[in-house]
Amino acid sequence: MSNPSILILPGDGIGPEVMTEVRKIIDWFGAKRDLAFDVSEDLVGGAAYDKHGVPLADETMAKAQEVDAVLLGAVGGPKYDVLDFSVKPERGLLRLRKEMDLFANLRPAQCFDALADFSSLKKDVVAGLDIMIVRELTSGVYFGEPRGIFEEGNERVGINTQRYTESEIERVARAAFELAMKRNKKLCSMEKANVMESGILWREVVTRVGEDYPDVELSHMYADNGAMQLVRWPKQFDVIVTDNLFGDILSDCAAMLTGSLGMLPSASLGAPMENGRPKALYEPVHGSAPDIAGQGKANPIACILSFAMALRYSFDQGAEADRLEAAVQTVLADGVRTADLMGPEGGVPVSTAEMGDKIVAA
Ligand code: ATP
Ligand code: MG
Repeated sequence: MSNPSILILPGDGIGPEVMTEVRKIIDWFGAKRDLAFDVSEDLVGGAAYDKHGVPLADETMAKAQEVDAVLLGAVGGPKYDVLDFSVKPERGLLRLRKEMDLFANLRPAQCFDALADFSSLKKDVVAGLDIMIVRELTSGVYFGEPRGIFEEGNERVGINTQRYTESEIERVARAAFELAMKRNKKLCSMEKANVMESGILWREVVTRVGEDYPDVELSHMYADNGAMQLVRWPKQFDVIVTDNLFGDILSDCAAMLTGSLGMLPSASLGAPMENGRPKALYEPVHGSAPDIAGQGKANPIACILSFAMALRYSFDQGAEADRLEAAVQTVLADGVRTADLMGPEGGVPVSTAEMGDKIVAA
């Protein structure tokens, strides 16, 4: 059998810098854990525009469709601000998401003990926190028709439509239940079935899908209460599934329970491929950080943890993902900090490469 395949798209700004550190980790798994990957690398974003005149070449798109997982750094930068909208770096990423039909966006909020003081919440509220928000990414109020600003009598009206089909709800619910099975078998679905028709259907469909997962403890919560509960006592949750709009808000809220942007990974999953695994793209939540690009200051942990998510959700290597996350935990506990993780007490930050090396060593 051939090795599992990964397409690496480093992109722009700090993307290539943090991806260099991920390559070290991938190589380590090949050498030390007998877990080799077929890795190929290609261009996306401004880097692709510079070479091909488009932010994602057709050949790259085709490769992305074939591999077991895509790992992306970041796209964009001030150099490309003047470009026409149709060739902006961000369009490369949007094309990937759209053509791979990545409908489930996974954003973990995980608190590393050594960084618990970074949260604006009390330490006992966030210490040990490890939850996952699954946001529907391809439908809902962002796409529903009718939409637009229309004349109505003697004034204008702005309209967006919250619209969900049963099959759209079903596929994201299924992705969330599958995740819950790999984690702690606990899923909370959030909508506003008290005021929204789409919410009533959402609750009904999620409940029906749940009959296929009798081992998962399913609960439902109105999204406004969910927002409150996330901040009050987030450890009551494990996996949360919600629609595009609520997910946008709730995932940002959950992510910031734990602190720094340089720490946050994400995954976007699509329909299962022939091998039963979902199409998948993994990327850090942060952007290309042009202000620190090329200086060796970037924190590679978000990108490294994105690879840990790939191990868990694309390659069924949950124990190896645990191993990698534990190494990150260890290094942080040892006090190793990139500049973005330095508190007011100061100290000497390590470089991007040093952080990567320490994690490999751990
Ligand atoms: P985008 O529009 O692509 O989301 P953005 O401008 O919103 O980009 P980032 O590029 O993520 O945001 O940068 C926001 C701030 O966070 C910058 O000051 C940047 O230097 C910092 N930052 C982002 N990622 C990292 C990282 N991995 N390590 C250290 N600092 C980072
Ligand atoms: Mg941003």
